[in-house]
Amino acid sequence: MLRIGLVMLQGARHAHLQALNSAAEELQLAIEIFELRNKNDLIQCKPNAIILPGGESTTMRLIGNGPNSQLFPKLFDWIRDHPNLPVLGTCAGAILLSDPQDDGEKIVDANISRNAFGNQSDSFQSTIYSSLLSRDFPGVFIRAPRFLDLGKKSTPVSLLGEEIVGVRTNNRVALTFHPELSNDFGFHKWLLIEALEGSS
Ligand code: GLN
Repeated sequence: MLRIGLVMLQGARHAHLQALNSAAEELQLAIEIFELRNKNDLIQCKPNAIILPGGESTTMRLIGNGPNSQLFPKLFDWIRDHPNLPVLGTCAGAILLSDPQDDGEKIVDANISRNAFGNQSDSFQSTIYSSLLSRDFPGVFIRAPRFLDLGKKSTPVSLLGEEIVGVRTNNRVALTFHPELSNDFGFHKWLLIEALEGSS
């Protein structure tokens, strides 16, 4: 049984639950999803893969670094200590991975700018191409951040035209869009397949 840790502090987290379950069904894999709200949830979960959803990164930081949770300090160190662990961060999750603000090294090696595609009314849907999936994918962009530049430890994995909208460092993928809000579970299937390979 694969153990998937899903950060459940705020934002578009329930859509990830459904996407993970659909992806697992399509792959005929048994998974258990652990909802991560505090550091003890993470310690109990010992995840084979982790998802950081979209939402509002400032709110997530306040909760996740707060005294009742302390999830983020534990989570970021955990990911750094397990460089092959598959991690998927979407939108605000991509912001947290690229800019953890905890004095440690970046988890995804890129500089990112919040809300750089504009505000809510500038949200849009557009087809992107992902080299991770080797195909097109429906990109849902909601107050999306933009990658300013990529560090040496990163490779682009998704493009909107010429623009990089997905970045990978080790087995960690940061996407500026919301794959969980489409009907395509390709990125969730990628995460589960990586988790399966890492668990054997
Ligand atoms: N603008 C949000 C932030 O800065 C991210 C938007 C999203 O996750 N859809 O955290």
